[in-house]
Amino acid sequence: MAGQVATDQAERLAELIRESRCTVALTGAGISVPSGIPDFRSPGEGLWEKVDPMKVAHIDAFRRDTARFWSFYRPRLHSLGGVEPNDAHRALAELERRNLLEAVVTQNIDMLHHKAGSKRVIEVHGSIKSGTCQDCGAEFTLEEIDELFDDEGVAICARCAGHVKPDVVLFGELLPAEAIAEAEALAARAELMLCIGTSLEVFPVAGLPSITIGSGGGLAIITKGPTPFDTNARVRMVGDVVADLEAVLGAL
Ligand code: ZN
Repeated sequence: MAGQVATDQAERLAELIRESRCTVALTGAGISVPSGIPDFRSPGEGLWEKVDPMKVAHIDAFRRDTARFWSFYRPRLHSLGGVEPNDAHRALAELERRNLLEAVVTQNIDMLHHKAGSKRVIEVHGSIKSGTCQDCGAEFTLEEIDELFDDEGVAICARCAGHVKPDVVLFGELLPAEAIAEAEALAARAELMLCIGTSLEVFPVAGLPSITIGSGGGLAIITKGPTPFDTNARVRMVGDVVADLEAVLGAL
């Protein structure tokens, strides 16, 4: 009885959340799939099928052929900027409002946790909400960047005419040190880590559950497909992230 198992797991997770003095959510692409954003590592999912993200969304591509980088990335910024959060994002915002969730650590760059109302969001791969001039450091919002494109389709700094790069971590770039340090500190403090919509295979997110386990905390995993931490999870849910999180909220 799959439905009964899911209900039992939701009630068990609600109990763990009530008992935990510090719960941290860790989210990946799977939480944004119900909002219509494909997980580029799932085969057969639109946008990323036609291009190799390792090549086109690489810092070397941005530096070498900025116009080509933007020809791919500008429509992506546009489409991501218009996406709305779903009830899984809203469930996490609601947990935070009820003081049952300390923070959300996310791999996603789509701003959907903010849009759903979450206050403390640590974006370990950056975000599309802004861009920075690579020469003078001037910052521009997503809307402002749209006004900066020249005839060749390159975003040019309004102050110094340098190249503006979106504040997302491209392949080949270092991860933002401050965000990583904050995520690691939260993972160490967490009595419960809720891993949602992530296969827990990509650094730095892949390293965080080990930190929590090493500090005596527990894991709950809500995601489709296997993860390396499945045998460590106190609760393991494999259904739809929206339905699963709504069931947990309903049991609280
Ligand atoms: Zn500049």
